[in-house]
Order: sequence, then C-alpha cells, then structure tokens
Amino acid sequence: MKKLTILGSTGSIGTSTLEIVAAHPDRFQVIALTAGSNLELLKQQVEVFRPRLVSVLTADLARQLDRMLSDPKPEIHHGIPGLIAAATAGETDVVVAAIVGAAGLVPTAAAIKAGKDVALANKETLVTAGRIMMDLVRENGVRLYPVDSEHSAVFQSLEGQSGKDVKRIILTASGGPFLNLPLDRLSRVSVADALNHPNWSMGQKITIDSATMMNKGLEVIEARWLFDTPAERIAVNIHPQSIIHSMVEYVDGCVMAQLGVPDMKAPIAYALTYPERIPTGVKPLDLTALSGLTFLAPDYQRFPALKLAYDALAAGESMPAVMNAANEVAVEAFLKGKIGFTGIATSIARTMDAHEPHTLATIEDVLSSDLWAREKSRELIGLS
Ligand code: NDP
Repeated sequence: MKKLTILGSTGSIGTSTLEIVAAHPDRFQVIALTAGSNLELLKQQVEVFRPRLVSVLTADLARQLDRMLSDPKPEIHHGIPGLIAAATAGETDVVVAAIVGAAGLVPTAAAIKAGKDVALANKETLVTAGRIMMDLVRENGVRLYPVDSEHSAVFQSLEGQSGKDVKRIILTASGGPFLNLPLDRLSRVSVADALNHPNWSMGQKITIDSATMMNKGLEVIEARWLFDTPAERIAVNIHPQSIIHSMVEYVDGCVMAQLGVPDMKAPIAYALTYPERIPTGVKPLDLTALSGLTFLAPDYQRFPALKLAYDALAAGESMPAVMNAANEVAVEAFLKGKIGFTGIATSIARTMDAHEPHTLATIEDVLSSDLWAREKSRELIGLS
C-alpha cells in the first residue's frame, strides 16, 4: 500500500490523481490533501478519501472548512506551515507535487528533506530552483518521478539505456490554440480563445502557458535539471496531434518515443507505480484512426516566450526564477484583462532585461528573486 500526500488535490492534476487512487484502493491510501480555496471540492475529497490531515490557503478558510466537515474530521492546517505539515506527514511515502506556480517550491523542498519520494507535476519548482532541488534529491536519497507528460515520455524513452548514448531530447508541443492564427491577430485574442486548448484539459495557468508556449520553455528548463542535459541538447518540435509525448534521440540515429492518447492519468499513474504499470482508464490509442503525425520547428516570432526560456537558461543563476515569476504575474494580468496576449511575453522580457543574474544558494535566495521579479513585473505592467 503506497501512502500519498497530494499537494493541490483540487486542481486538474490533483483530481486526476485521485481518480487513479479511487480506481486502485488496494494500492493507494491518502494521508494528506491540500487545496487553495476550493473548499466544496476539498470537502467531497475528504469524505471519500478520509485523509488524516488537510491544509488550505488561510486561517479563515480553515475555519470555514472545519464548519463544513462532520466527524470524524482530519487535522485542518493552513498556509505554508500547513503545506509543509502535509508534505512531511510521517506516514507518507510519495508526495504528489501538483500545486501551480512557485508556491509549490517550499513544500516540495520540505518533502524531499523529509525523505519523501516526489511525483513532480509542479514544473515551476525545477524552473526556479533546479540546481538546489536536484542537490536536495541526491543528498536525501529520494526519487523524483516526472508527472509532466513530456518528461514522463523522456523518462520512459531512457529506460534501459545509457545516458552517455543520448544525443538529444526532443520535447513535443501541441502549439496550442494559436498555431495557425495570422500573426497580426495574436494581440487581439480573448482570454476564452487562449483557454481553448485543442488537445489537453488543464488548469488555467498552464493552459495560457501552452498558448504562449512558455509552458514548453518551462519544460525545457525542467528537462535540463531532471535529465542533467544542457539546453543545446534539448530540442522542441511542434506536434499538433499530441500523440507522441516526447522522444530521445541516441548517437546511433535511433529515436525512442512514447505515444498515447493525451490524458494525464497515464503519466501520473506511472510516476506513482514505477516500474510497474497499472490500468488507468485512458482510452487506447487507435493508430488507424489517426490522419497523420506532423512535426514542425517552433517559430520564435509567434512564440517569443519559448525563446525567453532558452535565454533564461543560458543566463542561468537567478534568471529562470525571475522569468517564471514574471510569467506568473503576466498570465494573471492577462486572465484579469489587464494586458493583451502578446503583452505576456513583452512584460516577461522587460522584467528579464531589468535583472542582473546572481547566484542562488538557498531556497530563500530563490524566494527573494521571485519576489523581486513579481514587484518589478507589476511595476512594469502598471499594476502597482
Ligand atoms: P490547477 O490550477 O488546476 O490546480 C492548482 C492546485 O494548486 C489547486 O489545488 C489549487 O487550489 C492549488 N493552489 C493554487 N495556488 C495555491 C497556493 N498559493 N497555495 C496552495 N495551493 C495552491 O493546476 P494544474 O493541476 O493544471 O497544474 C498543477 C501543476 O502541474 C502546475 O505546475 C502545472 O504546470 C503542472 N502540470 C499540469 C498539467 C495538467 O495537465 N494540468 C500537465 C503537466 C504539468 P484551489 O483550486 O483549491 O484554489
């Protein structure tokens, strides 16, 4: 029986994880769940999965949840200490890190320091603090299993192979809803257009990141750390069908790929049961029903955010954390109608231009760069 903490249980990854848990009650037990503010869904999850501990964003939300639940109730925590309590809960074997954004960094680091294996969806953790997190993973002898479908595909394509034989990692990207939109219309797309992803159903932030392709940029940085591979050996190919989830090219010219219907339950389950595979309810892939698999190189004029991520990785040090925070501020501003779609990449670039990269030695250093970038980015957008 694997004992789980799910950070971000009310989100898209969190609910998919709980679907897997519900389908395999003989394999998984839920020890702790954390949410932001979706109390109604958290209440339902508590009633079904009976965790020992839950945590929400604020003390006020914790009091509300307490009133909503009937006995027997779990321990109810809140804020960052609550996230840490969930991430380090004594019985937990694996922490599913599925909070969105840099808010996932502190609890994920706490889980690793407490010796927990981590199923990592929260890519922002490795983007902001890649070197620090990978050092923590090594020092604490834990395993970090990728949940992101691309990194799961790379992980699977590397199995049984020797790292020294890898020539390139090829991350695939759908290209999002604006792949074929005339460039002069990009600045006028609506929030609803940007949230209308052609292949994947995901949380709002990652859906906007997919439309700008910042998501792929974050994934390049995530891959750099997860697979210890320099940026020049991580390529991105647009593959609009989202059937090949990523590939590894070897020195002998062979390319290993992982294919499947786009459904996050497959990579989540693999992260939880590696090296075993379990039924996930994911629809089988009918190759004969596919009209074709196509690939093209990304166009930086259409997707400047992807280029910014490669630039941030090249600058190194604090730059990826700054880029990530600027992106979070810009996406939120776009979702609230404060800036247009093309303003997202522009404001990230301006924040990066204003930043002098410096070494990040600790998680606190990362948080202070993150805070600086949020303030600078808000100032540049005119939000503060
Ligand atoms: P969602 O927005 O759907 O869910 C986010 C979760 O985090 C919710 O449970 C939310 O709580 C909680 N949360 C948000 N802010 C905070 C905070 N400040 N403190 C504590 N909890 C918070 O996101 P996704 O599930 O789409 O994505 C989660 C992560 O997984 C992201 O890093 C994303 O990049 C990554 N990922 C997602 C994929 C997907 O298919 N969705 C695919 C690959 C990676 P509440 O809703 O209760 O407020």
